[in-house]
Amino acid sequence: MGTSAAKPRTALVVGGGISGLLSARELAAAGHQVTVLEAGTAWGGCVGSHTVAGLTLDSGAESFATRSDAVARLCAELGLSSKIVPPRPGGAWVQLPDGPRELPRTGVLGIPANPWDPEVRRTLGTLGSLRASLDRLLPTSVGAGKDVTSVSALVRARMGSRVLERLVSPVVGGVHSADPGLLDVDMVAPGLRAGMRRHGSLAAAVSAQRRGGTNKADAPADKPAKAGSAVAGLEGGMHTLVEALVADLRGRGVTLLAGTAATSVSRTPDGWLVDAAGTIFRTALLVMAVDGPAAVGLLENAVPLIAGKKPASGPDVKLVTLVLDKPELDRRPRGTGILVAPQTPGIEAKALTHATGKWDWLAAAAGPGRHVVRLSYGRVDGVSAQQPAGPETDDELFAAALRDASALLDVQIAGDEVRGWDVVRWRGSLPFAAVGHRARAAAIRRACTAAGGLAVVGGWVAGNGLAAVVADTREQIGQLTHD
Ligand SMILES: Cc1cc2nc3c(=O)[nH]c(=O)nc-3n(C[C@H](O)[C@H](O)[C@H](O)COP(=O)(O)OP(=O)(O)OC[C@H]3O[C@@H](n4cnc5c(N)ncnc54)[C@H](O)[C@@H]3O)c2cc1C
Repeated sequence: MGTSAAKPRTALVVGGGISGLLSARELAAAGHQVTVLEAGTAWGGCVGSHTVAGLTLDSGAESFATRSDAVARLCAELGLSSKIVPPRPGGAWVQLPDGPRELPRTGVLGIPANPWDPEVRRTLGTLGSLRASLDRLLPTSVGAGKDVTSVSALVRARMGSRVLERLVSPVVGGVHSADPGLLDVDMVAPGLRAGMRRHGSLAAAVSAQRRGGTNKADAPADKPAKAGSAVAGLEGGMHTLVEALVADLRGRGVTLLAGTAATSVSRTPDGWLVDAAGTIFRTALLVMAVDGPAAVGLLENAVPLIAGKKPASGPDVKLVTLVLDKPELDRRPRGTGILVAPQTPGIEAKALTHATGKWDWLAAAAGPGRHVVRLSYGRVDGVSAQQPAGPETDDELFAAALRDASALLDVQIAGDEVRGWDVVRWRGSLPFAAVGHRARAAAIRRACTAAGGLAVVGGWVAGNGLAAVVADTREQIGQLTHD
């Protein structure tokens, strides 16, 4: 927790997602007088909630990575330690063009730690495993150079195209809604290439990362990650973290203004002036905790060095949640869910989470025979980064979800078995970690930090996911309050 001997100052946070709320908490703890502006009516941004058939569910993020203790520590500070729960064992599956397979559990982004692991071998075939194991023999320079920047270039060079198509593409599509050919490996798997140089191969780097955490590639070998232990959730849903944060901020006297979008920012001799549709806020410290295009759009007049440098907007993701009466799903036919390989015929969804198969607390809340499944649609494919056409309207999405859930779970689901459904759209919320994004985001951040009294936080600079966002936000606000 940041502390500062500096005299209390005014601090304004723009954006009430997890990065903005956490920034506000750190600033208040350092003694500053904090206001948070949120454009929407709800707090938490991508960590949202909705109620479907009487069940309160996560509408966006539903778990956090446990490769670092960043989120668990925050939960502990908010009194939520006892609510941290692992997903049910059983793992996830992958739907390949030739049928469903259990997803090997010891990978990073689907990249296997051991190509000869029986689950990996079943998915790749012997020839695929053989090609993947060449990785151990190749010089570490292969895939380490500046020419290799995308996830697919790295995986293809070291382990071959079977690993890419049958493991990495489905996982990357499920997590980042994009083709691995478009994604910057250093953004979506930070530390992996450095680990490769240190440990001699990509598989060894994956193995070290699974053991130790992103920045601790040398963690003790006697502590392997337990299968399925790479993520955890909160009993009641991830959105309870937002509720706890908001309550904590109110307790600290932070002013929380929802429905208040910042529309422009300018520099003043002693700080910043933020206009929110006519209401003017003057502040000594400013934290920009919005998505990348919005952050650059708001700041480019006041920080001319970043003018015209708006990062690409993230992909549009549509989530369809179905609450079903379907006792056949009690046996969890696809474990915690299934990721879909891009070329799988007849399936439009890119992933399905069997939420009641994943979280015990939710299965208990739903009751026997009642199930929650969530399907996601929308993926950025191909070099042109275009979104392929797919179901768009709520009715089209509902129909596609029924079809896809039936096929993916291998049970026929009829419309009259649906107790409730909802469509949630996340427009550009996942930062688009395109090749080169990391370097561009870092340059934007440097220019903003140099302006003084300004911090830029959020998933688009920190990397996608709560673990990255929480750790990075703390670091940035620590610097801001100590400057
Ligand atoms: C569908 C989905 C599922 C996800 N699942 C997971 C998961 O399971 N695990 C995981 O670790 N991560 C997950 N993530 C990623 C994770 O949720 C994000 O990395 C993280 O929540 C980003 O937080 P943030 O504060 O950077 O941004 P956001 O949550 O996007 O918050 C930004 C906030 O700024 C507000 N805002 C924008 N413009 C303005 C303005 N001009 N003025 C005022 N406010 C403004 C927005 O309304 C928003 O509330 C998921 C993301 C999505 C979209």
